[in-house]
Amino acid sequence: MRTRPLPETAIGIDVGGTRIRVARIDASGDLTARVIEPVQPDRSGFVAQLSRLVGGFRTDGDVAVGIGIPGRVLGHRGEIVSAGYLDIAGLDLPALIAAETGLPARIENDATMALLAEANARRGDTSGLTFMVTVGTGIGGAAIDGGAPWYGGGISGQFGHIVVAEAGPSCNCGRTGCVETFSSGTALGRLIAEAGLDAQTKAEDLLVRAENGETACSDLLARWARPLQRAIETLVAVADPQLVIVGGGLGGEMVRALERLPKRGRWFAMPVEAARLGDDAGVIGAGLRALALPAPE
Ligand SMILES: [Zn+2]
Repeated sequence: MRTRPLPETAIGIDVGGTRIRVARIDASGDLTARVIEPVQPDRSGFVAQLSRLVGGFRTDGDVAVGIGIPGRVLGHRGEIVSAGYLDIAGLDLPALIAAETGLPARIENDATMALLAEANARRGDTSGLTFMVTVGTGIGGAAIDGGAPWYGGGISGQFGHIVVAEAGPSCNCGRTGCVETFSSGTALGRLIAEAGLDAQTKAEDLLVRAENGETACSDLLARWARPLQRAIETLVAVADPQLVIVGGGLGGEMVRALERLPKRGRWFAMPVEAARLGDDAGVIGAGLRALALPAPE
């Protein structure tokens, strides 16, 4: 008796600053199993954790592994240049995965993985140049064109470092006035403290209070969102993307804050949408990317 072949699936891995997610993803982008645990930030601990998770998770249908990394990744080569709080720069993760499982692996920036999942969820609506801006602790980004990552020279999509004001706060990149210093979650926390509001105040609270007529909250949201509006206008002026998807932990709130702002000149009408997939976008995109291997040059 012949057995039917298993449908091909991939293991998607989303490495975050605090947690690591591992999931099984099929070719439709559906997620069928998931493990989440705190990430080990030190090099040897991370290597051991990744080996254990992948080795334990693998089943016969899995044909490849995709890994999204927070930070700067040379996606066309699968090289990790830097990874924020994680000490994993330069680690050869495809070799590690191959040694543990025999499977090929693909490494990308985590925002690129999330964008691939969002594009898949929108089917034909993102066949052209599409950007993602992620609003969380910092501001990240990614670009795809024709459904594939667009790398530029290697690390395109660092949209948090678009300068929107020369006289701005110092940025991690060594310059001043990057949009990340004005419109990230960290910047929102600073605006809340400067306004004398309770430190537990959330973006959602501010949106509700602004809707109820509290002008101090409307003003604060405008100060948070306007620099990102400028940055997205710059992206639109330079590249005329089909769509800009705003995601990350504060993506939905940021889109609502952007929608409250007065519209500006029609040259730069912004095709902005909130991300749809939430926290699983990274693992879903990583699985889809793995299923679309070939390996990098
Ligand atoms: Zn910067």
